[in-house]
Amino acid sequence: MIQSVSFIGLGAMGWHMASHLTKVSGQVHVWNRNFEKAKEHEQIFGTKAVCLQQAVQTDIIFSCLPTSQDVESLFKNCSPKQGSIWIDCTSGVPDIGKRLNQQLKHQGVDYLDAPVSGQTVGAERGTLTVMIGGDQAAFEKARPIIQAFADLIEYVGDSGSAFAVKAVNNTLMATHLWALAEGLSVLKAYGVNLHSAINCINHSSGKSNISENIMAQRVLSRNFDKTFALNLLQKDIGIAIDLITASNLDLPTLNLIQQQFNQIHKTDAQHLDFSAVVKTLEQRNQLELY
Ligand code: NDP
Repeated sequence: MIQSVSFIGLGAMGWHMASHLTKVSGQVHVWNRNFEKAKEHEQIFGTKAVCLQQAVQTDIIFSCLPTSQDVESLFKNCSPKQGSIWIDCTSGVPDIGKRLNQQLKHQGVDYLDAPVSGQTVGAERGTLTVMIGGDQAAFEKARPIIQAFADLIEYVGDSGSAFAVKAVNNTLMATHLWALAEGLSVLKAYGVNLHSAINCINHSSGKSNISENIMAQRVLSRNFDKTFALNLLQKDIGIAIDLITASNLDLPTLNLIQQQFNQIHKTDAQHLDFSAVVKTLEQRNQLELY
């Protein structure tokens, strides 16, 4: 019987995801590196801010940190409760997920890779897509808790598989963003009104989540509101490209996409929304998409 739950990493995603857990557990512990955020979460949502070692003593432990390397170094500073299930919602590296799974198994802990999709708005509404890799029995035990912030929960295979699906998904999103920006550039050069063009595309076969929810709202508006940092998307594309390289398959387009996204240095990219990558295309062609 699952009684206690914790959430580690109250960032743009984790802040909202953790808030939904109070619907399914009477005891939700939260920990954040900047501990003030955990105390604020406690005040707003009725969770309980605790130290890291206390957070990992619950039946279910969620984490949502920028990278798998961050999660791995966190593990070195704590020993989770025997019999618990660690659900890592970080968009992580498949091989590190597998390694953590093996290490934690020796400590009597199940580790699931459980990256999410749906952006901060999906986290806030509790309508995320959650991809699951790892032990299926552990997943079935945890499913009712994950349901608190999910619309779709899909088991995709052994440990590491969900991280792989997430990396490919985000590389496709990057591809849609870049391809749409190229398409709109040529339409701009031809003198077409881009808002009308987007409206047509959104009612035609070329539409995507990017055309429906990102391009007009962040690029054409010139807002570039930051909800998902560009350096995190660069990281996801890098994970997908590493998988491609290891597979020895000939997949040229996604490699080209990585080259476009890596034009912005990582240190600058951490301050930008992912949609701001479009500016590099604009600068190259000396035009603005609005
Ligand atoms: P944020 O940068 O907003 O939040 C990161 C969180 O991790 C913060 O709570 C931060 O703590 C904490 N953190 C960072 N480094 C460490 C560390 N070394 N040790 C302990 N805690 C650390 O990231 P997001 O919430 O945007 O992203 C989290 C994950 O979710 C990423 O893997 C991302 O790719 C993925 N994701 C993001 C989406 C989005 O739209 N933003 C959508 C889907 C997935 P502190 O407050 O102290 O800095």
